[in-house]
Amino acid sequence: MSTPRKAAALISGGLDSLLAAKVMLDQGVHVEGINFFTGFCVEGHTHAIRQKDRARPKRNNALWVAEQLGIKLHIIDIIEEYKDVVINPKHGYGANLNPCLDCKVFMVRKAREWIEQKGFDFIITGEVIGQRPKSQRKDTMPVIARESGADDLLLRPLCARNLPETLPEREGWVDRERLYAFEGRSRKPQMALAAEFGFEDYAQPAGGCCFLTDVQYSRKLADLWQARGSRRYELDDIMLLKVGRHLRPRPNFKMIIGREDGENRFLEGYRKQFTHLLATSHNGPLVLIDGNVADEDLDLAAQITARFGQGRDAECVDVEIHTIDGTTLTRRVKPIAGEQIPRNWYL
Ligand code: SF4
Repeated sequence: MSTPRKAAALISGGLDSLLAAKVMLDQGVHVEGINFFTGFCVEGHTHAIRQKDRARPKRNNALWVAEQLGIKLHIIDIIEEYKDVVINPKHGYGANLNPCLDCKVFMVRKAREWIEQKGFDFIITGEVIGQRPKSQRKDTMPVIARESGADDLLLRPLCARNLPETLPEREGWVDRERLYAFEGRSRKPQMALAAEFGFEDYAQPAGGCCFLTDVQYSRKLADLWQARGSRRYELDDIMLLKVGRHLRPRPNFKMIIGREDGENRFLEGYRKQFTHLLATSHNGPLVLIDGNVADEDLDLAAQITARFGQGRDAECVDVEIHTIDGTTLTRRVKPIAGEQIPRNWYL
């Protein structure tokens, strides 16, 4: 018996990558999954923090997919290298700050390097022609293959029959006749194939696999870049953009306000890095201040903090302010009225 060929599958945790890997496994290919951790991934993080999402399974969908398929999953941290993709995408952004085409090129390039190191034969992805407007078009498929350097070592089992033959097909490592020709935005063919394979429970990512496709998230990231005067970020920045209510009352500072206990607990982990506020006379959220604040800014911040707690209708609320240099101040304030908060303060 000949040794099976080995493929690295890019596993996002969604249905398409699950199916692509399954199609290969059914052809006797040895498949191992790669999941790239960019820091923007939707999976797990916010579900684990927020109380209201408690009912949802707190699973990492990429791991779950690997488990369903019985394959090994390699989770690879690409946080640092990925910054350049987000900050300077050669092909530009999609509808929000999602650099999908550059992102795909980058991930396939990393996968190519990985298969070279590990002695694997080719790469598979769950891409489908026409599924996404920017990164999954017939004319962008060759761009990804070419710019990543993967060329014809990149096989897309779900739409391969609509694309030129790749090396694994030409060499007979896989049977092209048993690959698919899915095309277009409809998810029905994938759902039918999932049913055929007996998969009933799978993640249904709305819009994309990361927060960069989210309009509000992108707005917060753009605000962060603008406030800093440069397009840079650290992991903590992009994590905090996923959590809490973000308000920018003045150009020099932003407030991150916990919306519920889970978020307050998460924000507590950042108390040493940020000036933070908490009402002491009433229950209320933990509030982090991002930026440089003067004394009058703290008055406004205290009024806003009071507004988002149980003292919102009280005559006055005591708020404790812990500055980043370790000083504790107290303010007795009247909570700001809802109508005094302009809509454009909310990010
Ligand atoms: S949605 Fe996010 S992770 Fe997915 S291709 Fe686009 S930028 Fe990359």
